[in-house]
Amino acid sequence: MAKKQFKAESKRLLDLMINSIYTHKEIFLRELISNASDAEDKLAYKSLTDDSMGVSRADLKITIVPDKEKRTLTVSDNGIGMTREDLESNLGTIAHSGSGQFKAGLAQDDKAAEDIDVIGQFGVGFYSAFMVADAVTVITRAWGSDEAWMWQSDGADGYTITACEKEHPGTDIIMHLKANADEENYDQYLETFKLQELIKKYSDYIRYPITMEVEDYRQKPKPADAGEDDKPEWETVKEWKTINSQIPLWQRQKSKVKPEEYNAFYKEKFGDWQDPLAVIHTSAEGAVTYKAMLYIPAQTPYDFYTREYQKGLQLYSSGVMIMDKCADLLPDCFRFVKGVVDSPDFSLNISREILQHDRQLKVIATALEKKIKSELLKMQKDDKEKYEKFWHAFGTQLKYGVVADYGAKKDLLQDLLLFWSSKENTYTTLAAYQDRMPEDQKFVYYACGEDPEKIAKLPQVERILDKGYEILYCTEDVDDFVMKALAELNGKQFKSVADEDALPQTEEEKKAAQEKAEAGKPVLEAVKEALGDQVKEVRISSILKSGACCLTADGPVSLEMEKYMNKVEGGQHM
Ligand code: ADP
Ligand code: MG
Repeated sequence: MAKKQFKAESKRLLDLMINSIYTHKEIFLRELISNASDAEDKLAYKSLTDDSMGVSRADLKITIVPDKEKRTLTVSDNGIGMTREDLESNLGTIAHSGSGQFKAGLAQDDKAAEDIDVIGQFGVGFYSAFMVADAVTVITRAWGSDEAWMWQSDGADGYTITACEKEHPGTDIIMHLKANADEENYDQYLETFKLQELIKKYSDYIRYPITMEVEDYRQKPKPADAGEDDKPEWETVKEWKTINSQIPLWQRQKSKVKPEEYNAFYKEKFGDWQDPLAVIHTSAEGAVTYKAMLYIPAQTPYDFYTREYQKGLQLYSSGVMIMDKCADLLPDCFRFVKGVVDSPDFSLNISREILQHDRQLKVIATALEKKIKSELLKMQKDDKEKYEKFWHAFGTQLKYGVVADYGAKKDLLQDLLLFWSSKENTYTTLAAYQDRMPEDQKFVYYACGEDPEKIAKLPQVERILDKGYEILYCTEDVDDFVMKALAELNGKQFKSVADEDALPQTEEEKKAAQEKAEAGKPVLEAVKEALGDQVKEVRISSILKSGACCLTADGPVSLEMEKYMNKVEGGQHM
């Protein structure tokens, strides 16, 4: 039996599609500019393979013209243009991508194609114009043709194509904006400041200039005969300006970017006034293709430990922004990292939900996680002072990272941790601690307290130091949990100095202790009686040396953990 074609109400289908793909109406501009950029790219490619065309890349540009009287917004390009057939197949068929076809047609080893970065691939972006326009007119003339065509549609009952006049090759997309509705202000798309904002936000790195005539309010030049005291006059001038900055820093070769350029980009983009501590500029090609530029800030953002702080990297697809804070690109422990990732493998209209499960995104995230770690290790090795600055800003975050998810990230983070060393009187890494360990030392010792000076005076600390062993002084609430989560360092257990078995006893020592306990019984009983329910037990301890007594916790929860949990329960912020 012959198969029948599905019939669909094109208007309903269009509505459904557009409204399910896009959450923000404002992205229509991004889509049309991306198409214009693709059209320029195709022309550039064609001229590279055909010298006789005499097209110079420098002439290619995109123009935006708002017209308040006619309530139209026009996006024009002087790119490849469309023939009548192109109009039929590209704009007459939803989900048909002429650009996708173009890309598929490029040979893998095509040298000329190296400089081509066509964005389109799904054939739906164009229709986003109908989110803000109730009618769209396309006037286009293909390169090498002297015919021009007008495509018109109100989105509802199809489209018409008629012959028209157009002086130069290229395409004008004219949107007849919808009337303002209660919650929707379509007039804003006629305001140059709004259009500028949208171009900056989404299309700043389009590789062709996006020009618009903007108003500038400025001082008139003083006439030659003006007196000293004459007030300067102001005037409003209209002038054509290029709105986008065009060259994404991350697309440039690492060796060609100056440190000042990296820093300026960071400060402008992420609103910091301090230079970052480090920049990671990296790329990959193959199974996944991407370029990334990541920054380690020098200071803790004021809202870093609040719910308001959102982690994430900016995600671009060939220079077009598709997501501002893509959380899935960063593990929580590195949530302080800022930056951008650009990959041509993502489509412009990919949704948050789909991205979350995207395999390529996971591959990129894993690679970046490794890069961040190795950059930090490098800093730790090469510039101790800088690393301590970093540690001061984000060390606590790394510790939380060790404890979170049942220690899932502890292998990643272990080498990055710093603790105060009793021996060095400064911060040490765990690796350096282990290097200094005498052979007979069984454990990695740590002691918790308020600050290194107070910890050094704890009665439990003395006997370990006397043995010549080094202790890690832990001054943060989370430290005890970190040690428990780490559990061991290359086969050596972490041990709190407060543990009864912190120093392994010989048989003789054990016996002596037992005898002592027997002898001391009456004293202990008296003390217990005096303290009553305030303590559970009073016993002779081996953890003290010259100190007479100390408090210890009962069971696996240490005194520090108890304090910490009381704080958390008591509503104090961790
Ligand atoms: P995509 O960009 O994903 O291919 P669109 O719906 O945005 O999908 O565009 C559909 C097709 O229409 C494009 O692939 C391209 O062939 C054609 N097209 C759209 N805008 C232009 C333009 N300004 N100049 C030339 N061709 C265009
Ligand atoms: Mg497109």
